[in-house]
Amino acid sequence: AIRLSNVYKSYGDHPVLKNIDASVARGEVVVICGPSGSGKSTLIRTINRLEEISSGSIVFDGQDIHASMPSKKLNLLRSSIGFVFQNFNLFPHLSVVENVSMSPVRVKGVAPDVAHDKALKLLDRVGLAEKANAYPGQLSGGQQQRVAIARALAMEPPVMLFDEPTSALDPEMVGEVLSVMKSLAAEGMTMLCVTHEMGFAHDVADLIWFIDAGEIIEKAPPEEFFKTPRHPRAQRFLADLR
Ligand code: ATP
Ligand code: MG
Repeated sequence: AIRLSNVYKSYGDHPVLKNIDASVARGEVVVICGPSGSGKSTLIRTINRLEEISSGSIVFDGQDIHASMPSKKLNLLRSSIGFVFQNFNLFPHLSVVENVSMSPVRVKGVAPDVAHDKALKLLDRVGLAEKANAYPGQLSGGQQQRVAIARALAMEPPVMLFDEPTSALDPEMVGEVLSVMKSLAAEGMTMLCVTHEMGFAHDVADLIWFIDAGEIIEKAPPEEFFKTPRHPRAQRFLADLR
């Protein structure tokens, strides 16, 4: 579904992504891990063009994401790839159900009542049906993050990207968000997740990409990555987690 070829990115003369060659098949779950500052967020953000790349290409379902395109098309592209941020990024002045139904109405032209019904179904799916009329400020972090996932799903994205979705949460709320992500994976969603939750990576990922200093230096299934990491920097990274 997604193919990154020879992707480079730098900020000024500081390279942050180097020679990224990787692909994600439909239905695959990839967990991206690596040290702080290694380029994980930058990498995942280039996939829905929240960041530009310096060279190379990223093709998603046959479409070159970084080709020039009118802003309307770019907006549609961005919102058709679900993105879940560390800090939820909900609209504080909109109710939960409005947060979830807004993009389908605004970006896709879905009828408001249709979008509303769909939003209620999605909220039910993430266990928050009873919070539909609450405001984000009235919810816990874990609840807000589940709303953010429902909001992304409302656009019916073929792919979901997650950038450390649980790292801003109190420990007791991590599980509820991971379990929503697990159920998405089980339903066959194509997912790229930056996360430090190695239990999730172990149980759910098809493939781990280990990134260091802007390069993917190891790609391996979880059993292999956790048991017998090949690269010394991956070995050190895993040793530091323990
Ligand atoms: P973390 O685990 O801390 O979230 P990360 O792996 O997500 O780290 P990135 O945020 O992708 O790392 O950053 C990669 C590199 O790019 C870092 O050296 C960072 O300082 C640099 N960087 C990120 N954003 C910018 C920016 N807007 N301008 C300049 N440099 C940046
Ligand atoms: Mg990051």
